[in-house]
Amino acid sequence: MLTDWPFGAGHFWLENSAMETTLQRAQSERTNVRRKDRQVEDDAFIRDLLRRAPMGVLATVRDGEPYVNSNTFVYDEERDVIYMHSARTGRTPSNVAGYERVCLTVTEMGRLLPADAAFNMSVEYASAVIFGRARLVDSDEERRHALDLLVRRYFPHLLPGDDYRLPSDDELKLTAVYRIEIEEWSGKQKKAADDHAGAFRYGDHGLAPWLVDGQKHSIR
Ligand SMILES: Cc1cc2nc3c(=O)[nH]c(=O)nc-3n(C[C@H](O)[C@H](O)[C@H](O)COP(=O)(O)OP(=O)(O)OC[C@H]3O[C@@H](n4cnc5c(N)ncnc54)[C@H](O)[C@@H]3O)c2cc1C
Repeated sequence: MLTDWPFGAGHFWLENSAMETTLQRAQSERTNVRRKDRQVEDDAFIRDLLRRAPMGVLATVRDGEPYVNSNTFVYDEERDVIYMHSARTGRTPSNVAGYERVCLTVTEMGRLLPADAAFNMSVEYASAVIFGRARLVDSDEERRHALDLLVRRYFPHLLPGDDYRLPSDDELKLTAVYRIEIEEWSGKQKKAADDHAGAFRYGDHGLAPWLVDGQKHSIR
């Protein structure tokens, strides 16, 4: 669900019309949102989005080659860092070990917004782009802390000890935990009026015929 936001209409393809935006942390040109009407001037927007968004996409670089990892994450608000995890070996831990600068994006997609002209067709969304430095956490104590936050975030109905056991020392050794120190972030949002004519969710009208074959690969 997108949070409440002043209504307006915008352009999907070129983003040339009105509407959205959160920033107290952002400081430089790289987090300067071109569409000021969509920029969110409030860090609380980004914090809320980091609580709600089910996954993040982490960009890393090695030898000039970009690489993205779609992953679960948790924002530790007290420490103001983001934690992610993966297997101990793999491209992501290798990239992070070699170069600490990363970029993470989290998104929510709302309704699609039809218009009379293709140019004016649009989509609701809430998103954040975060620049920071990722480190593989060495301390077992911090690794346990991060994994505990992750499990509690994604499995809030389960209780440690009762419903599952905590990681053993051996399991912990197999797990890479990333601590992303946040340098800058930006937030952006587009939200239309509740009664926007014809607004619908992706898939409500089925998939485009040339995509239907792809349904056999869907996890749903
Ligand atoms: C919604 C979602 C949540 C996820 N949550 C977690 C999580 O909590 N922890 C976790 O460890 N992993 C998670 N994954 C899997 C994650 O995307 C990576 O596959 C995993 O972290 C291993 O990354 P790596 O770079 O070390 O992989 P490697 O296996 O070392 O990557 C080698 C190559 O495999 C390919 N590859 C890697 N990942 C993917 C992928 N997801 N899809 C297609 N090709 C891929 C790429 O071509 C890459 O260059 C999640 C994926 C999704 C989509």
